[in-house]
Amino acid sequence: MSNFTDLLIIGGGAAGLISAITAKREKPCLSVTVIEGLDRVGKKLITTGNGRCNISNTDESLSRFHGENTEFAAFSLERFGKDYLKKFFSSIGIEFTEENGKLYPSSLQASSVVDCLRFECERLGVNVTCNAKVTKIKKTKDFTVLGDNFEFHSKALIVATGLFSGGDKLGSDGSVFRIMKELGHKAIPCSPAIVQVKTETDFVRQLKGIKVDANARLYKKNTFIREDFGEVLFCDYGLSGPAIMQISRDAFRSEGEYYICLDLFPKNSKEELLELLKNRASALSHRSLEDFFTGLLNKRLGQVVLKRCDFKLSQMTYELNNKDLEKIADTLKSFKFKILGHTGFNNSQVTAGGLSTLEFDNKTMMSKRIAGLFAAGELLDIDGDCGGFNLKWAWCSGILAAKSAVEYIR
Ligand SMILES: Cc1cc2nc3c(=O)[nH]c(=O)nc-3n(C[C@H](O)[C@H](O)[C@H](O)COP(=O)(O)OP(=O)(O)OC[C@H]3O[C@@H](n4cnc5c(N)ncnc54)[C@H](O)[C@@H]3O)c2cc1C
Repeated sequence: MSNFTDLLIIGGGAAGLISAITAKREKPCLSVTVIEGLDRVGKKLITTGNGRCNISNTDESLSRFHGENTEFAAFSLERFGKDYLKKFFSSIGIEFTEENGKLYPSSLQASSVVDCLRFECERLGVNVTCNAKVTKIKKTKDFTVLGDNFEFHSKALIVATGLFSGGDKLGSDGSVFRIMKELGHKAIPCSPAIVQVKTETDFVRQLKGIKVDANARLYKKNTFIREDFGEVLFCDYGLSGPAIMQISRDAFRSEGEYYICLDLFPKNSKEELLELLKNRASALSHRSLEDFFTGLLNKRLGQVVLKRCDFKLSQMTYELNNKDLEKIADTLKSFKFKILGHTGFNNSQVTAGGLSTLEFDNKTMMSKRIAGLFAAGELLDIDGDCGGFNLKWAWCSGILAAKSAVEYIR
């Protein structure tokens, strides 16, 4: 099969589908083709936000994005900010609902987002070819894009193939990332972000299944890196939950000893907590330490904290002196876990690293090395925080790439 199309888009994910719609709306007479390696478009989108699709966020600050050159993202994020996205999604039938700044489709169904993008592609006459995995890209005057059983030729090319997060079953095998490197594009090393963290297991394993609201702080040795407040889940391998996923990124970007410290009483200062423990020790002096925390903290968690402080649960509360209570308060305010690794790309929501943005023009998303080649979405070295920021980047960069590609073809 050999085909010619004006604009070829590789990848039928978030960035690719919005690019196709934008390009067709800009210039309906252009032929636009999306080629997708999997049997359907939008397979990753369907899994997003636990099936609800956290489509974007009302927070417009650039600090929610990361990469070697975060400034790169500012232009498209500002140009296609929340009002633009709201209008765009409304035009394809999706209204937003908001939860603490996080935007979801009001259907709360990720599948409805894929459906509406698909319907609009159909309406506009975008050609969509699935089961077409790209293995080679060549540029002469035009582009030639090849796979095992197909060959496409186009005037302009948008690569929107994502990276490694979610794994092969969601189409994220990094194949086009490798092709782009072969074409001479510089890459920033990749690591999983928004991912569960493996830690020393002595204590977490005993707490498996317990969820708490805590302030999770990430340290490189003694240097504080970042923190997040939210749910933390103890697992047999380490720590999970939104607060952990949010701070996970920076633990895997450079070598070093990393720690997570959990503040289990984030609403109280250390002094207030110590006062609370002193009052409790005096009121409940008759209890064994096994039940010292019963009624204040998850019982098993309280017991593990005491074990961590080297107390025996058979000891009596009246045996605790002020120094002991201070040690317990310190551990409650900073329950420390050494990080040993992560649970891999398959379990991560986004990939940190990617194609260096220094080799793309941020006003157009066009490669500075290969004229007519545009990139969008996760493939580039930009990743966002948990909370809708990664899709926001995919949408905004995809729209800009499409508008620029149409201009280029003109
Ligand atoms: C489980 C999970 C939940 C998430 N939840 C959220 C969320 O709620 N909110 C949020 O903002 N972000 C979320 N993310 C992140 C977000 O989904 C991604 O950042 C975003 O989808 C990236 O968009 P993209 O278009 O760049 O890449 P993708 O959506 O990954 O799309 C790339 C497409 O290219 C195709 N492709 C790849 N290689 C080839 C090839 N060689 N030939 C042809 N086609 C190819 C793939 O099959 C895929 O369909 C989540 C991620 C995961 C894994």
